[in-house]
Amino acid sequence: MASPWTAGTPIRDGADYVESLRGRKLDVHLFGDRIDEPVDHPIIRPSINAVAATYDIAVTDPDLASAVSAVTGDRVNRFLHVTGDAADVVAQNRMQRRLGRETGTCFQRCVGMDAINALFSLTFDVDAAHGTTYHQRFTEWLAEVQRLNLVVGGAMTDVKGNRAAGPDGQVDPDLYLRVVERRDDGVVIRGAKAHQTGAVNSHWMLVMPTARLQENERDYAVACAVPVEASGITYVYGRQSADTRSMEGSVDVGNARFAGQEALVIFNDVFVPTTLVFLDGEHEFAADLVERFTNYHRRSYVCKSGVGDVLIGAAALIADYNGVPRASHVRDKIVEMSHLNETIYGLGMAASHESFERPAGNWEPDPLLANSCKLDVTRYPYEIGRLAQDLAGGAVVTLPSEQDFDDPEIGPLLDKYFRGRPDVPTTDRVRILRLIENMTMGRNAVGYLTESLHGAGSPQAQRIVIERTTDLEAKKRLAARLAGIDEA
Ligand code: SF4
Ligand code: FE
Repeated sequence: MASPWTAGTPIRDGADYVESLRGRKLDVHLFGDRIDEPVDHPIIRPSINAVAATYDIAVTDPDLASAVSAVTGDRVNRFLHVTGDAADVVAQNRMQRRLGRETGTCFQRCVGMDAINALFSLTFDVDAAHGTTYHQRFTEWLAEVQRLNLVVGGAMTDVKGNRAAGPDGQVDPDLYLRVVERRDDGVVIRGAKAHQTGAVNSHWMLVMPTARLQENERDYAVACAVPVEASGITYVYGRQSADTRSMEGSVDVGNARFAGQEALVIFNDVFVPTTLVFLDGEHEFAADLVERFTNYHRRSYVCKSGVGDVLIGAAALIADYNGVPRASHVRDKIVEMSHLNETIYGLGMAASHESFERPAGNWEPDPLLANSCKLDVTRYPYEIGRLAQDLAGGAVVTLPSEQDFDDPEIGPLLDKYFRGRPDVPTTDRVRILRLIENMTMGRNAVGYLTESLHGAGSPQAQRIVIERTTDLEAKKRLAARLAGIDEA
């Protein structure tokens, strides 16, 4: 099957989606090799399966994962939908929790969803200020992406070089992505975007600036859509802890079906036609775009409450298999995990319920609540992970390998000595321990822990927004009035 946007055939389900990725001539690097067909690579495939789940769920539960698009009038995957009211924003969170539960990992598609919604409103406002036609270009592009049901990745995080300086202060000007040439028919961009979730699994990338920009940094104020296959792009796959387990058997990998994906994306003089350019030089809108994107994305991290559901289930199962499900300290720990997990979900849902409408007509989450949600996400999954390891016991890091369990001589001895409750097969106990390992220190700890810390911005970025959006003067007035202090 040719690339879907040239074949013109809409993708119907997960199987179609996997086929749509085949035969692309991407320049993908992993372990020092150029990967001809990422779809069949054992380390990459689980991340593709996770994106495929976002297609299948729209088929099996269309109310949850699809919506009628105001852009096309047709039903589209919710990951491509522009929010039409607060209920649409809330529905994104419900879908994210469900997919976190089903995959136990990062399913990669929210970055595009959040970038689509941020650019939908931003292009409208830039046009109002500058008389440009970005919004029309953007909606025309989006209509086609919705029709073909494609995966859109976001590309925001620049590599940033010397953190003490912005784009203009770098010795090497390429450390923030910029326009290096303007032609009659488009622009040429150069730079690199780091930690790009699902990049190799996408069809399109939405390139966006990462920071506030000054007037002399106008070349860095560029937003555009780029086909993942565009000439001049190189993908260097990020390795994950214990990733080579995916090339071994099935038990030791913990979660053999699903994983996340990040890559460094290098744009080496990539041409982007004018029809796909949605911001070019309007530097004063760069910070605004970042803020809109993060208002969506920081409460999208309720995905981690879905992943947390799996880890809480794994912790409860290992307690079960160890024969102590009713021990009071076990129940206490499970309650604590649940409480932390629902706190994440509750704040994300609150941010979505309290959405506000932009002039373009789409709805955006409340910034203070969205950032508070994400700040919780930088902490609580670690505590939930610690409690899961506590309940798992030391075997989570000392278990022998799958091959030793399969060994005709030593295997029966391991089966005997690693058994917990007599009626539970040792192999089930091992599988749950491997899943806890996978989620707290293996491949999916990348998504559950460190991505929770740094994804959508590191904790300090959330603190800055929380400080800015907290109306401290109003709170002071409340206190002064009740204390009987003369406000004058
Ligand atoms: Fe979606 Fe969560 Fe992955 Fe971000 S980390 S893309 S919000 S699943
Ligand atoms: Fe992310």
